Amino acid sequence: MSRMNWNRWKRRTTDQVKRSFGEHRPMAVAWPGLACICAVMLVTVLILVIPDNSDAAGVSGRGKATREDGLKIVEVTEATEDSDGGTSDSFGGQASGLGSAVVDNWNLILVNPWNSVPEDYEVRLAKAENGHFVDERCADALADMLEDCRAEGLSPYICSSYRTMEYQQTLFDNNVRQLMAQGYSQEEAETETAKCIAVPGTSEHQLGLALDIVDVNDQTLDESQEDTEVQKWLMENSWRYGFILRYPTDKSDVTGIIYEPWHYRYVGKSAAKEICDQGVCLEEYLEALQKASE
Ligand SMILES: [Zn+2]
Repeated sequence: MSRMNWNRWKRRTTDQVKRSFGEHRPMAVAWPGLACICAVMLVTVLILVIPDNSDAAGVSGRGKATREDGLKIVEVTEATEDSDGGTSDSFGGQASGLGSAVVDNWNLILVNPWNSVPEDYEVRLAKAENGHFVDERCADALADMLEDCRAEGLSPYICSSYRTMEYQQTLFDNNVRQLMAQGYSQEEAETETAKCIAVPGTSEHQLGLALDIVDVNDQTLDESQEDTEVQKWLMENSWRYGFILRYPTDKSDVTGIIYEPWHYRYVGKSAAKEICDQGVCLEEYLEALQKASE
């Protein structure tokens, strides 16, 4: 979608956003010319340097397996196009009123359809395997988790990690295009896409704290993934390393995202244990923390 079309869609969906599960808070985009050019140059470089595959499960239903390697560690300052700084409205999920202002811990930052990546969010990236990058603060935990998973004779495979804003936009637009080729109107295609691919600016992948991990022998990004040995192990053990299955099967009304038995989010060991023990999702966990602090 061109920027002009994107802006038009955002204006159009402003009135619709409270009526539909899949339509997320539109972003106000107003980049001054120079900043825009600089940002485009930055993300263009990043897209070239950082390969990243999609979990565009909604249409294609299959993750790509080709990765590049040999990339150097880079430091990135990622600015989003959002102007609301991660504020939220009262629509939908229980945690819609929560945001980074509620919980200051970096590992608990909430990004979902109602809480955008904060403006001027900065992430220091560290190299993970297969040419992927993550926030350097969770890189060791990720490496340990994958190593221990492999020690059990399993074959976990990272198929998506850190994403730039532009890359998230590309994923979104490509999915819209595929749906329109199947006969959807643009509005329908955008609505459907938002159910499975976060609207740019609202993806945890932009934090560097989220990963899509699959079984190398079954890289299909659909619910069948939960039956793989790798997912069974990760669902059972990821909390030990500080990761949670971010979008559980019964929490879509709270998270705003479909069940994704491949998307893991780093929240730190203690939070991951509590979230796991309580059987809650991140939104519910943060809401409880907020209530406890009141
Ligand atoms: Zn993901």
